[in-house]
Amino acid sequence: MKLNDPQLLKQACYVAGNWVTAIDDACSSVTNPSTGELIATVPALGKQETSSAIHAADKAQGDWAARTAKERATVLRRWYELIVENTEDLATILTSEQGKPLAEAKGEITYAASFVEWYAEEAKRAYGELIPSHKPDARILVSKQPIGVVGAITPWNFPAAMITRKCGPAFAAGCAVVLKPAPDTPLTALALAELAGRAGIPAGLFSVITGDAVAIGGALTESPTVKKISFTGSTGVGKLLMSQSADTVKKLALELGGNAPFIVCDDADLDKAIDGVMIAKFRNAGQTCICANRIYVHNSIYDEFAAKLVDRVKALKVADGFEPGANLGPLINAAAVEKVQAHVDDAQAKGAKLAYGEPQPEGTHFFPPQVLTEMDDTMRIATEETFGPVAALFRFSDDADVIRRANHTSSGLAAYAYTQSLSRAFKFSEALEYGMVGINEGLISTEAAPFGGVKESGLGREGARQGMEDFLETKYTLMGGL
Ligand code: NAP
Repeated sequence: MKLNDPQLLKQACYVAGNWVTAIDDACSSVTNPSTGELIATVPALGKQETSSAIHAADKAQGDWAARTAKERATVLRRWYELIVENTEDLATILTSEQGKPLAEAKGEITYAASFVEWYAEEAKRAYGELIPSHKPDARILVSKQPIGVVGAITPWNFPAAMITRKCGPAFAAGCAVVLKPAPDTPLTALALAELAGRAGIPAGLFSVITGDAVAIGGALTESPTVKKISFTGSTGVGKLLMSQSADTVKKLALELGGNAPFIVCDDADLDKAIDGVMIAKFRNAGQTCICANRIYVHNSIYDEFAAKLVDRVKALKVADGFEPGANLGPLINAAAVEKVQAHVDDAQAKGAKLAYGEPQPEGTHFFPPQVLTEMDDTMRIATEETFGPVAALFRFSDDADVIRRANHTSSGLAAYAYTQSLSRAFKFSEALEYGMVGINEGLISTEAAPFGGVKESGLGREGARQGMEDFLETKYTLMGGL
């Protein structure tokens, strides 16, 4: 891996302000999903190191919270600038361990940096209020205080953005973070920690620990010092962390799995809808939580839509993320390939047609994009998150019916609808039981909006003003005897 700044490639963890390895030198491998090559090894740490990190975080957090908001904002701004200055190296590390095309990796670094920039600004706006009281000689003072030490656990699909979306608001609010990144993509997290240290994030305020998920997650959830768990990942693990956090009644932020419906009405601008599907379905090779999983197309335009989509999908280039012009890199691992193939096989066995798709090259993690037509609601894709580049087209003919089918899932993260009618647009926006709805838009992620789901897709919001609120407690003081 050629980096302008080789110091960004870390094979040690950042614990309490020090770069550490395991006492017994135990480590785990990080491989390139495109080639299978070993890129680096990272320490396999556990409960003891997590406890040290929690202790250091607790010590550092008080001083950090006592600084003025402007001082915290200045450090965050510097972190933002360093991330932007090192975009090329960070993107190289990200593509090497995650596989996404380099252009997409650069886009993710820009997106990741945007959260740090946003919360550097938002740090100064943790406003309270003074409420006219129920007694003439008293006033009700409401102030905001940092929640304290936060345990953060992140997935591999956005190795940079899922970290800054938590750490930006946490540090802005005056909190400390102990982070466990995904084992497939720890190098981006460690590079971000190196830049955080250079920016002036104090020792102990931010630790990054790689290793055994159960041990690290257990130490974070059982510690009374950790006041909040902020998790992004699968719904199953989210539920587990929720139950583990019950004993110490922690605040929880859970950004979990989705199964997004993408509805194309008969009055939609077809070309715009196709553009929307291309981004909502094939970004990151279909491995995003807000990926269009079920594409419902009105009967009257179904065939035309399918034909246009096939034309666009045929032009996608599946290649190593470093190859110029690559649109789709590999899936993250063999288990991901197996799951996506199982969804395709299940659909075909139940009558779906493969309108376009090359066979999956065995022995690799590449999965060529596919378009399936004549999908029905008995197929696994109708209820399970596929997490791969398979566009599954369902038919519909009635708005009320498609809304009912779109809502018929335990997930509630993102939904999309394409229509030129304003009243229909409002109807879909209001009736879809999802935390986020894109109307005539396939790319909804931005630091300026509150990202998050309802139902089993999670709790809390990340991004925007709401993302900062999640790291603050509300304190009420009654000022009497005035
Ligand atoms: P995952 O298997 O749940 O893993 C996520 C993180 O949790 C990893 O760091 C993992 O580490 C850790 N983990 C697993 N078991 C744990 C335990 N018992 N205690 C503590 N930590 C544990 O999810 P994934 O496969 O990486 O990510 C894909 C999922 O994330 C999809 O469902 C996707 O929709 C969802 N996602 C949601 C959002 C959102 O904003 N809502 C964003 C991105 C992704 P190990 O791998 O070491 O076990």
